[in-house]
This record gives sequence, C-alpha cells and structure tokens, in this order.
Amino acid sequence: MLTDSSISAADIIRQQREFFQTGKTKSVDFRIAQLKILKRAVLEQEQAIIQALKADLNKPEIESYLTEVLVTKEIDYALKNIAAWTKPKKAPVSLDFFPYSAKIYPEPLGVVLIIGAWNYPFQLTISPLVGAIAAGNCAIIKPSELAPRTSHLLAEIIPKYFNSEYLTVVEGGVEISQQLIAEKFDHIFFTGGTNVGKIVMAAAAKTLTPVTLELGGKSPCIVDTEINLEHTVKRIVWGKFINAGQTCIAPDYLLVNKKIKIELLDSFKKCLKEFYGENPAISPDYGRIINQKQFDRLVNFLQDGEIVIGGETNSTECYIAPTIIDHVSAASPVMQEEIFGPILPIIEYSEITEAIALINSRPKPLALYLFSQNKDLQNRVLQETTSGGVCLNDTVMQVGVSSLPFGGVGDSGIGSYHGKAGFDTFSHNKSVLKNSFLLDLNWRYAPYQGKLPFLKRFLG
Ligand code: NAD
Repeated sequence: MLTDSSISAADIIRQQREFFQTGKTKSVDFRIAQLKILKRAVLEQEQAIIQALKADLNKPEIESYLTEVLVTKEIDYALKNIAAWTKPKKAPVSLDFFPYSAKIYPEPLGVVLIIGAWNYPFQLTISPLVGAIAAGNCAIIKPSELAPRTSHLLAEIIPKYFNSEYLTVVEGGVEISQQLIAEKFDHIFFTGGTNVGKIVMAAAAKTLTPVTLELGGKSPCIVDTEINLEHTVKRIVWGKFINAGQTCIAPDYLLVNKKIKIELLDSFKKCLKEFYGENPAISPDYGRIINQKQFDRLVNFLQDGEIVIGGETNSTECYIAPTIIDHVSAASPVMQEEIFGPILPIIEYSEITEAIALINSRPKPLALYLFSQNKDLQNRVLQETTSGGVCLNDTVMQVGVSSLPFGGVGDSGIGSYHGKAGFDTFSHNKSVLKNSFLLDLNWRYAPYQGKLPFLKRFLG
C-alpha cells in the first residue's frame, strides 16, 4: 500500500491501463489539449511554484523562473512539432521488395512512471511529462521527497487539472519509490544519482520494463588560454553556483591551463563579489544546501587542497559559500565523487593531452565544457572525449535547447529527452510492412528445387 492512502500502486496502474485502453490518449487532438492544459497549469501556478522552490532550496525567483517555470518552452516546442512527430513516416524499400511499401508508426507505450530528483524538483518531473503526454501515454509522477514543498504542490496541482486515471502524482520516499518500481510499467523515466539508477534498473529488469536513466557524474570544465577571460569567468561562476551548485550539469571541476590560472583566480574573486557581494550569506541571489546530510557531505570536501576563495559555512542555515579550491590532486576525495554543491576544485595542466587523459580515465560525464576559441582544440576535445553533451564557451545553457537531446552516456545515464528525444523516449516506433495482391512470385515458396541459382543471381 502507498502511505496515507488505501490505494495501492497496482490499483493506480490498473486504473491508468483501463483509461489507456479506451484509446483516448492516442488522439493527437487529445494530446495537444493536455499539453495546453499543462502549460496553463504552470502559468496559473507560477507564484506557488516559486514559493515552494524558495521554501525547499531558497531559490531566487529569477532562478526558479528561468530553470523551472520556463519548462513551458518545452511545452511550446512540443505543441509546435507534435503534428510532424506523430505522423507515420514512409521508409524506403528496395526494388527487390516490389510491390511492398513500408512505414514507421510512432505509438504510445502505455502507462509510464516518472521519478524525479530534488534539485530542480518541478522541472525534472514536468519536462519528461511533456514527452510522455506528447507521445500519448498515461503517467504516474513520483517527485523527490527531499523537496517536500514542491512535491506537495505537484500533488495538489496535477489533480486540479487532470484526471487521476490519466496523470497522477504519488508522493513519498525510498519505500514508495521501491513499491512503484517493483510494478510492471511500460517505461520508467528516472532522474537521480548513479547508485539509485542501478537499483531502479535492477528492479525494472525483473518486469522487463524499459528505463531511461538521467544520472549525474563529474562534469569537467576545461579552460584554455585562448579565451575572453571576463566572459569565461562569468559563465563558469553562473553555471557552478546557480542553485548553490546543486545542478546535475554544473561544472564539477576545472581543468585549467597553468599559464592562465593566476589571472583566472583573480577574475573569479572579482566576479563572485560582483554576483553575490562581500558576504554571499546575505545575498538574496544565493541558494542553500538542500539538507543537513548533503551539507555534512560537502563540508568534508573543504579539507581537500587549499581554499583560495570562500570556504565559510553555517550549519544551521545549510549555507556553504561559493568556494574555489586550488592545489587539488586527481586522487583527492573531492575528485572521487560528484560534488553537487558550491565547491569548485581546480586542477592545472600544461598540455591538453593531460586534461583529456584525466577525463578519459574516469566514468563518462553528463556534460563537458571547454572554454577556448581555438577551433583545432575544440575539435580535438570533441574527437577525443565522450560525454552526454558538450557546451563550448559556456556552461549549462545546452539544457535549454529543445532540439538537442539531453541525457548521459555510460555512468551518467541511459537514453535522453527534451523535444523530439522526449517524444521518442515515450514512443514505440512500430514498423509496418505492407504487401499487395497485385502479384505473388513463387521464388520463396517450396518446393525449393532449382531455385537457389536464380536467387543468387537475382538477389546476391
Ligand atoms: P536520488 O537518486 O537520491 O533520488 C532520486 C529519486 O529516487 C527520488 O525521487 C527518491 O525518492 C528515489 N530513490 C532514492 N533512493 C531510492 C531507492 N533506493 N530505490 C528507489 N528509489 C529511490 O537522487 P537525488 O539526490 O534526488 O538527486 C541528485 C542526483 O541526481 C545527482 O547525482 C544529480 O547529478 C542527479 N541528477 C541528474 C539529472 C539529469 O538530468 N541527468 C538531473 C538532476 C539530478
């Protein structure tokens, strides 16, 4: 049983399956109508969303607007493209197959489960939901219990705008999540840490439920000498310290050409003062760590290397100042796991080969950043490394481009979403081959005697 409720996960799924079987969600008009309702819901609830995020993460209003409310852009993109996405596509057929014709029909999977993380707790459930709706599915959403205000708000909003046999929110923590993933779904879309991703995939394997895993990792940020220093520093500071560093694609650590390190550090100091003032603890524009457990984990990293900027903490407020640590080695604890907080270690390199080797010696990251105007260097890094995505001369902005699939590779995830990729994730591409009664050649039918030489000449 799911907590505080007499209805079990199996019951909710059964109700949604019954609704799915009516075929209503398959109509493209229905999907368009639901996407419009979802957009209206986000816009009408904008202030409530911003307040919930303030309570959970002390998110400044502008950050909540840009990174969570603007999920409406994903809805607009889906609305603009849904007619093209849902249309069956002709597939070419070789002459040998005359008079056959072939088409690919995208069809919904059925009832899907979306499990969210706490760092962008609204957007990380609504954005996959856009793909699920566009593709014609029913969905159960399980937001993160660690952002409770946003989780409660989602549980309030969704039933106001949608029937529960179509979309529903199930609130709860690990236990509820485990009850859900033990059930047979048509797809599980999970956002969270790599270790929990393995648990989700293992549970899904038992019911042969396909999964998309949007995981984390240590995203490197290379800083070469051929840059505009001021722009580089602003873009790194923004991408690293937005949401107090609790962003899956935040630059995790810097790999800096040693010729530019001193200048870069000076520039970081100026930029941080400009962004958050002398004391970021009183800045209205700087967030907090989600909880004490994460705070304690992060504070341990402050033992590593030499703190050159920041380092101040306040346990009662879960505050950690924007911090930059120099003289960190690849073997330091801060370099062993995803930081997921406002601590930026710096490792210097003399030759780009060293930076590339370090990246390639580690699990494949979710994002990779390179600041350099040198096209050869850009091409080299693109050629010689692998990551979920890359952003050249900026950070984090790739997540906002709906035409780019968003997802990891290797330990940073399986599958992708946003825009068409989200639609595809929640669709099955059904291959349909059609013959005609125009003619019926005997070459493939028994008796086979004498037919092989002809077939070899004709088909080989
Ligand atoms: P998490 O893995 O701890 O939790 C994610 C969800 O899984 C929550 O809803 C939680 O209730 C559930 N869960 C936790 N333990 C579970 C278990 N044992 N069995 C079943 N379900 C369980 O992740 P988090 O702490 O919420 O988020 C942080 C991580 O998520 C970071 O690693 C970050 O990089 C990653 N992340 C990735 C993306 C992305 O798009 N790739 C986005 C945001 C966060």
